Amino acid sequence: MPSAEIITVGTELLLGQLVDTNTATIAACLAEIGIDVFRETSVGDNESRIAQAVTEALARADVVICAGGLGPTVDDLTREGIVASVGTELVLDPEVVFDLRAFFASFGRQMSPNNARQAMFPKGAKILENPKGTAPGFALAVGDKLVIALPGPPREMEPMLREHVVPLLRETFALGQTIATRVLRTTGVSESEIDAKIGDLFRASVNPSIAVLAHAGEVHVKITAKASSREAAAALIDQLEAEIRRRLGDCIFSADGSSLAAVLGGELRARGWTIATAESCTGGLIGSMITAVPGSSEYYRGGVIAYSNEAKTALLDVAAATIELHGAVSEEVASAMALGAKAAFGARVALAVTGIAGPTGGNEQKPVGLVYIAVASEDGRLEARRLHLSGDRETVARRAALAALMLGWRASRAAREDVAADL
Ligand code: AMP
Ligand code: MG
Repeated sequence: MPSAEIITVGTELLLGQLVDTNTATIAACLAEIGIDVFRETSVGDNESRIAQAVTEALARADVVICAGGLGPTVDDLTREGIVASVGTELVLDPEVVFDLRAFFASFGRQMSPNNARQAMFPKGAKILENPKGTAPGFALAVGDKLVIALPGPPREMEPMLREHVVPLLRETFALGQTIATRVLRTTGVSESEIDAKIGDLFRASVNPSIAVLAHAGEVHVKITAKASSREAAAALIDQLEAEIRRRLGDCIFSADGSSLAAVLGGELRARGWTIATAESCTGGLIGSMITAVPGSSEYYRGGVIAYSNEAKTALLDVAAATIELHGAVSEEVASAMALGAKAAFGARVALAVTGIAGPTGGNEQKPVGLVYIAVASEDGRLEARRLHLSGDRETVARRAALAALMLGWRASRAAREDVAADL
């Protein structure tokens, strides 16, 4: 399989003034067509350093893709760097000059001599048209390798990558392979618990390969397969996914990129149910996650952030005596909050959270990270859980919010399965 390196050019990148998105775009595109990328470099607008980067990359990879530094100004030196590296010269392309003149004439301007630089290409290079700007790119064969130069602006670079570079690479390297990925999103389990359950698969699987990635409150299991077609790659992934699901069970909430709130929303919509929230230590995060899903107005009734004891009593009808007796952070209060929200909003399901997000406010009986979540659902069903969450304040809140959404999702699914069993 051919390998590629990516070189982004621009002093702004090295000064931290510009975030390099081109590398990611190019890398993702190469992955899709089955080209390995082993190294990525950023270099400033300096001819000799560009030349050196190209020379080094060409020594290691079959394809070197440069982005940036093709503009008309004196600091755009990618062309010069490339010819210095491969030992050729720049020649003017009369057709491109003609096109550039016409382009400027089309809005009543004259082409400046600077722009003519954009019509200079390494001798023998194939010109890659740029429908969105003035700087064409090019591809230059160097022995059996290829150096490609694309302009820096992402809105010009991207279409050229898809329309010119991908077909060129497919043809040059007779690529038949596709790479497909699927991410199984989980919550409520740690990376190490996942490793204990699927570590052997992880170590034994080459194609598909598995990567376990920790995100805020979630652990993602990413499956990547290479095959001759999308369908064949999907079939490889399906097999491994089935085995992983068998081992990890219902901590997996999606395999298509959907958030947990979206998955819960789908379940509620399928049932025609509505939901409400009562939040303390998550401060509205659950409501925010639910409303981040387009169309959530169909099922989300609303929520209360009941931070103080008084608010819990006044807005959610939690008895002052319950708080007095068990404390605000308790299973009893979480349950009462859920029932209160369900009644206040007239919802079919309600989620509640109360806990100690830290870093202060904990004690021996009730340490930081102690959180109770509850779900009140149909027919007076009420379920509560005690959680011990680790992490800083933000992480505890995030984990608590996800745990509550998970509890809500399971309760809605269980209810649906009950109905199915009754039929
Ligand atoms: P250049 O062709 O290097 O003069 O770049 C022109 C413009 O393209 C820059 O001012 C940026 O707005 C954008 N650009 C260049 N390189 C990148 C990059 N690696 N990632 C994202 N944008 C870029
Ligand atoms: Mg530049």
